Amino acid sequence: MIVDFHSHTSQSDGTLAPRELVAFMRERGVEVFSISDHDTLAAYDQFEAPSNARVVVGIEINTTYLGNEVHVLGYRLPLHDAGLEALLEYNRSARRERIERIVRQLQRHGLKISMDDVFAEADGDVVGRPHVGKALIRNGISGDIEEAFRNYLWRGRPGYVAATHIKPHEAIDAIHAAGGVAVLAHPGRLKDYAIIDELAGSGLDGLEVFYPRHDDDDVTYFREKSHQYGLVMTAGSDFHDIRYHTHGVGRAVDDTDIAPFLEMVLPAVERAADTVPQPACQLQEEESRGGL
Ligand SMILES: [Zn+2]
Ligand SMILES: [Zn+2]
Repeated sequence: MIVDFHSHTSQSDGTLAPRELVAFMRERGVEVFSISDHDTLAAYDQFEAPSNARVVVGIEINTTYLGNEVHVLGYRLPLHDAGLEALLEYNRSARRERIERIVRQLQRHGLKISMDDVFAEADGDVVGRPHVGKALIRNGISGDIEEAFRNYLWRGRPGYVAATHIKPHEAIDAIHAAGGVAVLAHPGRLKDYAIIDELAGSGLDGLEVFYPRHDDDDVTYFREKSHQYGLVMTAGSDFHDIRYHTHGVGRAVDDTDIAPFLEMVLPAVERAADTVPQPACQLQEEESRGGL
């Protein structure tokens, strides 16, 4: 089946508005999907659940641990949970402070860029380094995003500021406290794979085994890890922008590989129904309150 549990909209650092991304999912025949914006669920207030696909409410929480950027995906989340919101707001304000420091450093370096320029590139209230990159392009300083990162934003460059997010354990705990399922995003991007073992011992529920940048060896390795710790396997495109992610959305997976995850995030009645699919439970609750 075709699924996609990892994608971004303009509410974080993606380019498409939530409605456009959902239309893209529909166009590509994605049967079950999540929007997983960084540190915000705002996209879920901005689209109608499609009639031909099931939606699992998701998020990607940025954390840092032992010098690694560790991204924790959360699924089956309520849209308005006070504890989770507090943690997300902490992360969003840490992001803003980091971006302010980056902009100050770039200004000191003699570049023409302001916080207003950066906010002008963001639709929602989540700002990140890609928005700084886009501001640099708009101001005629860089030709494209890669060049902006290479010249100004990477470690050792004038605009580099280390991220100071929460620890992954805190994200896992907050997702569980909200009743959700915690999955480690793109484990192949970690510098230190021992983090997988540690988080598996700290309540992690799943691994994003199927990911565009994972080759066959990576998939085999992470599949083994999932078996070793009893973690469910998930699949995602991490789609942000068609210019950089030409693969688009949707990943074809074996039903047996994805079934344990679907069992955790979809109500039993939906998995059994092969007639008219219904939106996931959180969305139904939201609809009954007129939220979507
Ligand atoms: Zn990520
Ligand atoms: Zn992502």
